[in-house]
Amino acid sequence: MSIPPRIGFIGLGIMGRAMAMNLVKAGYQVTVYNRTRERTSEFADAGCEVAHSPRALAKAADTVITMVSDPAAMDAVLEGPEGVISAFSGGNTLINMSTVSPVYTAALARKCYIAGVNFLDCPVSGSKPAAEAGTLVILAGGEKKVVEKFSPVLKAMGRAVIYAGPAPAGTALKLCANLVVAQLTTAIAEAAALAQAQGLDPALVFQTLEENPALNCPYFELKKKNILARDYAPAFQLKHMLKDARFMLAEAASNKLELPVTTAAAALMARAERSGYGDKDLSVIHQNLTEPLPR
Ligand code: NAP
Repeated sequence: MSIPPRIGFIGLGIMGRAMAMNLVKAGYQVTVYNRTRERTSEFADAGCEVAHSPRALAKAADTVITMVSDPAAMDAVLEGPEGVISAFSGGNTLINMSTVSPVYTAALARKCYIAGVNFLDCPVSGSKPAAEAGTLVILAGGEKKVVEKFSPVLKAMGRAVIYAGPAPAGTALKLCANLVVAQLTTAIAEAAALAQAQGLDPALVFQTLEENPALNCPYFELKKKNILARDYAPAFQLKHMLKDARFMLAEAASNKLELPVTTAAAALMARAERSGYGDKDLSVIHQNLTEPLPR
């Protein structure tokens, strides 16, 4: 890429904040927008322009990156008179890195195509620590030559870019990767709860997994701290994984595929959300399993 893009970054939550800061550190000119403006102050301090609306951000940039919660948040920043789409101009690029559904992504790709805007769906695998370290795995959908053109930008946020195919292939692949994360989390939460129910220290479960090279997964190490300390400060909020599980099940149903274990994991997460744990780390499933069911 000869002339570096002027980047507009929308969504400075747990992931977006770290990802946008890595773009700044890599030397890109970055304009930011966040619904809650207080979250932009560290970017203003770093010399970034802070846009007052998504439209103003899109006018200041030729490449817009979105990293927001879900389809409703995407609509809030893209649509309407103050949305990004109102300032779309041909030749510009929209890269969505939020996890939304393949159906939503395909519709957005069509909208961009009609407007003459390049579109990539680039959701990420890896949580807060990987976002901070710039070691995310980026699952890229879209035209291959556009993915290649933006590879330096993506590599400023991640260690690897995996090309999945035309949009919404990045999003489709992300759901497959998150299916594994959902099930690993429910597995260790249930194993720890079963250990306690039998009068065992749940730390022994993690020790057993760590000592067995075939089962020693760094992801367990990340969630061990939450489960043993019963401290569920979020790296990945339960409500976001529940959203993703619902996308997985919708995709499976529309392709006449049954996902019985994911169905059970989604039910477990829905129960934890009903208990008021939606904003906690996904590992809070463990806490919820050891409590009486809500009425
Ligand atoms: P988060 O901390 O909840 O941040 C969400 C962002 O979306 C915030 O900037 C929030 O703005 C914005 N937002 C929400 N609703 C909005 C609305 N109606 N209008 C405008 N902005 C809105 O989430 P996150 O953990 O960074 O995750 C972001 C995305 O990445 C999600 O799709 C998630 O599933 C995915 N993801 C997360 C992880 C992880 O480990 N955390 C890993 C991979 C992928 P405010 O600051 O105003 O609330």
